[in-house]
Amino acid sequence: MYDSRSTVASCIEHERLTFELLEVRTRGQYLSRLRSLTSRERDEWDRRERAALARLVDHELEHGCAR
Ligand SMILES: [Zn+2]
Repeated sequence: MYDSRSTVASCIEHERLTFELLEVRTRGQYLSRLRSLTSRERDEWDRRERAALARLVDHELEHGCAR
C-alpha cells in the first residue's frame, strides 16, 4: 500500500544527489549575478549541472526510486 511512497522517502542517495544538483544550480546562478561570467566559466557550470543531473537520473534508473 505504502510501497512507492516509502521507497522514495527512504532513499538517502536520491536526496543527496538532488541536493547536489540544486547546490550546483544555485551556486552557478549566484555567481553569474555577482559578476558576468566568462564563456568558459559558463560552460564549466553548465557542464557541472549536466553531470549532477546525469548522476541523479542514472541513480533513479538503476535504483527505481524516481516518481
Ligand atoms: Zn534511490
